[in-house]
Amino acid sequence: MSAVIILLALIVVWALAYHRVAQWIWVTGLLVLMLAHTFIGHTPKVWLVLEWIVFILVLAPVSILFLRRRLISNAVLAWYRKVMPKMSRTEKEAIEAGTVGWEAELFSGKPQWQKLLAIPAPHLTVEEQAFIDGPVEQLCRMINDYDITQNRLDMPQEMWQFLKDNKFFAMIIPKSYGGLEFSAFANSEVLSKVYGISITVATTIGVPNSLGPAELLLRYGTEEQKNHYLPRLARGEEIPCFALTGPDAGSDASSIPDTGIVCRGQFDGKETIGIRLNWDKRYITLAPVATVLGLAFKLYDPEHLIGPEEDYGITCALIPTNMPGITIGRRHFPVNTAFLNGPTQGKDVFIPVDWIIGGTKMAGQGWRMLVECLSAGRAISLPSSGIGGGKMAALVTGAYARIRKQFNLPIGRFEGVAEALTRIGANLYYMDAARRLTMAIIDQGEHPSVLSAIMKYHATEIARRMACDTMDIHGGKGICLGPHNYLARFFQSSPIAITVEGANILTRSLIIFGQGAIRCHRYVLSELRAAQDPDIKQGEKLFDKALFGHIGLILSNIFRSLFLGLTNGRFVKAPVSSPGVGRYYQLLTRCSADFSLLADFSMIVLGSELKRKERLSARLGDILSKMYMMSSVLKRYEEEGRQGTDLPLVQWSCQNALLEIQQQIDGVLQNFPNKAISIILRCLIFPLGKPFVAPSDHLSQQVAEILLSPSATRDRLTHGAFKGNVIGEVESAFLAVIAAEPIEAKIHKAVRNGIIKNQALSALITAAVNADVITAEEHTQLLAANKARQKVIAVDDFAPEELVH
Ligand SMILES: Cc1cc2nc3c(=O)[nH]c(=O)nc-3n(C[C@H](O)[C@H](O)[C@H](O)COP(=O)(O)OP(=O)(O)OC[C@H]3O[C@@H](n4cnc5c(N)ncnc54)[C@H](O)[C@@H]3O)c2cc1C
Repeated sequence: MSAVIILLALIVVWALAYHRVAQWIWVTGLLVLMLAHTFIGHTPKVWLVLEWIVFILVLAPVSILFLRRRLISNAVLAWYRKVMPKMSRTEKEAIEAGTVGWEAELFSGKPQWQKLLAIPAPHLTVEEQAFIDGPVEQLCRMINDYDITQNRLDMPQEMWQFLKDNKFFAMIIPKSYGGLEFSAFANSEVLSKVYGISITVATTIGVPNSLGPAELLLRYGTEEQKNHYLPRLARGEEIPCFALTGPDAGSDASSIPDTGIVCRGQFDGKETIGIRLNWDKRYITLAPVATVLGLAFKLYDPEHLIGPEEDYGITCALIPTNMPGITIGRRHFPVNTAFLNGPTQGKDVFIPVDWIIGGTKMAGQGWRMLVECLSAGRAISLPSSGIGGGKMAALVTGAYARIRKQFNLPIGRFEGVAEALTRIGANLYYMDAARRLTMAIIDQGEHPSVLSAIMKYHATEIARRMACDTMDIHGGKGICLGPHNYLARFFQSSPIAITVEGANILTRSLIIFGQGAIRCHRYVLSELRAAQDPDIKQGEKLFDKALFGHIGLILSNIFRSLFLGLTNGRFVKAPVSSPGVGRYYQLLTRCSADFSLLADFSMIVLGSELKRKERLSARLGDILSKMYMMSSVLKRYEEEGRQGTDLPLVQWSCQNALLEIQQQIDGVLQNFPNKAISIILRCLIFPLGKPFVAPSDHLSQQVAEILLSPSATRDRLTHGAFKGNVIGEVESAFLAVIAAEPIEAKIHKAVRNGIIKNQALSALITAAVNADVITAEEHTQLLAANKARQKVIAVDDFAPEELVH
């Protein structure tokens, strides 16, 4: 009988923990168990009394609030205050900035899938679509990127004018100020399309529409500042840039040495309270042509002219670049791209104090302003560069692999090449799914700080790998620069996106999990806030609530991980029943529980040390990122109407993500600083060993085939890519070559049957038509296809003097 009670107890405890029931249900459940044990079993009375004493001693302090605080949570709070990570004001501001949503569900260990599926799909308005089909298409046709990057080292003047006239710099500015007021999704569609053909043009458009004066003005500017600058920015009369980085403050941007001292001075012939600024900045995009400079500096007010404080901290102001004391106009030359980027210095530049963005009330708020704006901008601009490059890469590389023949076969038919094609196709689907979801989240009004770091890091890293794959497949065609090389600048410039807006090593190692652990975790931020609450009583109350929520979460994840590991998630209720897809929801739920458990134990064991254990933090960040991206793939599949032919892309992406998640979990466990805990965690997470394997060769081949043939799936995958100019020639050749393949097959058959002799291609085609193997019409079609093929495989050559400027 007691064995039955023990088994029953186990099942009850397991079920309560698994479903994360409220505390009173726990207490009731355990009480019922004890009563059953008391009245049904034959346990000696002495034992029963002892058991009841232990039961009450354990349960009472946990379930009676007054006792719980006194005996447990206040003691933990005292300890926590001692070991709590020390955070600077800028760190605190960075952590508090932005919002969290779906990523927090993944962090919880028990994602509510309906919340994901309820996020509306991103869409373009009629006006946005017309802009893409009109001015954006026209711009793409105007672009000759080789001319821009090799000959002019700038866009032609008429292109600058076209951009201004069509309000390309005003996508985020509201209509009331004369802007286009586009959604984040539209903004990213425009940028992706242009990024696919010119990094120079797209970056020039991207900067004013992401982290720049317009964004800062919109969110924090005074009415006067908005009314003055926004219409002028919308009309292109002002060209903005934003200067934060300097020689001594790169990744550690909050350490800028640039200063602004509040003082009295003469401005416009009047004595004015102003700021005397000194700065030395570099790498500033659009600075060489900027008419208005957004500047970040540290503000000091030694004479207390604007308030009681002396050291305000980072502050942002808007400064016309024609002010005396400003040096601007020199250029850097970022890996052979021609967007305008350069240094600027300011020596004793005196500006009125109300040029601070938002006025004096925003003095010292600069870091928070920047981090908050960065969270949306960073999720849009740089990921768009990866998506744009990726769409172009998938389109042309699949086509080229079908057009280019070696050993009498299109190179795409060789497994080695197909392997690289698979990576391009599936990673594009995966990365674009994440972009679509992130844009939808931003368009709902969120400013997702953790997601923006995830998107920035993964989209740019994936694009860099794609650039390598696509170059490899093109062989010498990719290497030789010239007007017909549509690839090399994408490859060459991939480190730019990696470096800017938070260099990638730092983003991966420090930011994604570092910020995610605090922002996405259900209880950590509440614990931190409670521990810092100046109202001691209130702090104790809040800390107790967060602490016991946290303990419940860990207990639940212990049981969930083990159960989901033993069953491999088979009993999880998938929110959709699409064949071939529902299983991934179950497996991702399993990963979420494992990750949540791992994250908590990493924080408990390492505490503030985790900040320095960047390898562990990076792995945990990868797990969170890959869960997010995989969930976006599942969502995209639903949004696009469960197209069965897209399944190989969905399945490859999910299987690959699961394998990578498993590898990173394994990496954390292998390197976990506490071996005993690592062994226990391994038993809970992988009770039956590591379950995930790489996608099969068969599935990989199915993905490669999507790039090698025209289809609705290929169109969906590369939707939005520019298909004109040189890229248009590749696409037409691709279609012509495929249409001519049956004609070629007839000729090869005739050669095998001895009807005609094998010979050089042009002679062979003539022999085939003469021998009536093919018709005159087919002859013309084949010649045209071969001409198109030759044009695509050709590379540019130059007279030596043409290469010297
Ligand atoms: C082309 C270009 C355009 C830019 N445009 C602008 C602009 O318009 N405005 C502006 O203000 N800035 C701009 N920047 C600056 C940019 O956004 C980066 O912040 C800056 O380049 C990073 O500093 P750094 O190059 O000095 O690298 P460093 O800070 O010297 O970093 C070097 C390496 O160390 C890594 N690293 C540093 N600290 C850590 C850490 N704690 N953990 C792990 N890794 C770490 C970094 O990830 C990087 O890989 C631009 C930069 C470039 C190259």
